[in-house]
Amino acid sequence: MYFTFKSLYYIKIFIHLNKQLYVTPFYTMKKTILLQRIDQFDQGKLLKLKKNLEWNFKGLIRKVEISKYSFSLLESFYNNSRKQYDVHSILENLKKLLSSKDYICVLGLLEEDMYSRTMNFIFGIAEKSYLNFPGYIIISTCRLKEQFYGREKNESLLELRTLKEAVHEIGHVFGLNHCKNDCVMRFSETIGDTDKKPLTFCKSCSLVVKDFLLKFPEKH
Ligand SMILES: [Zn+2]
Ligand SMILES: [Zn+2]
Repeated sequence: MYFTFKSLYYIKIFIHLNKQLYVTPFYTMKKTILLQRIDQFDQGKLLKLKKNLEWNFKGLIRKVEISKYSFSLLESFYNNSRKQYDVHSILENLKKLLSSKDYICVLGLLEEDMYSRTMNFIFGIAEKSYLNFPGYIIISTCRLKEQFYGREKNESLLELRTLKEAVHEIGHVFGLNHCKNDCVMRFSETIGDTDKKPLTFCKSCSLVVKDFLLKFPEKH
């Protein structure tokens, strides 16, 4: 068959429209982030994070909710020789507890130290499979506290660090990789790296997030 340039253009439009018709109704969702307190995580800090995240993602998400479920750390999650919790066990159990597709992201917070299969400690982890919601995040505030480094308690610094880690991990759920710009998506190897990076996305990461969220019209 012989195609002119113009007919190819029409085919493209047709495919585009078709994609829209198929994708739109299937992937509508409530753009709500759910915060899950793990074990004895401080309630006041959870509330502060909720407010800070709502402010930070204003206009992009619907709201941040706090889960009514309780989630305890089990002995089986604990590695006795490392004196740390295995983040993958926590993640698997969080997924079993909260699987509602109504959330764009479920974020669990704990105060205990944790490690992953590839790192001897981690501040946080995000897991999301393509177009599969919710995305899951676990954040530990253990190494975000000044006391961990033998320094004096600093609540406002802890609040800022927790927010930076949360925005970073949510950024992963919203389709971002690590970024080398002056950006919250910079990888933090040490607490100094967390302190150096800004709380905000750089221009190009910001565009990726907006574009990502536009793909999922709000469910009412
Ligand atoms: Zn990261
Ligand atoms: Zn960036």
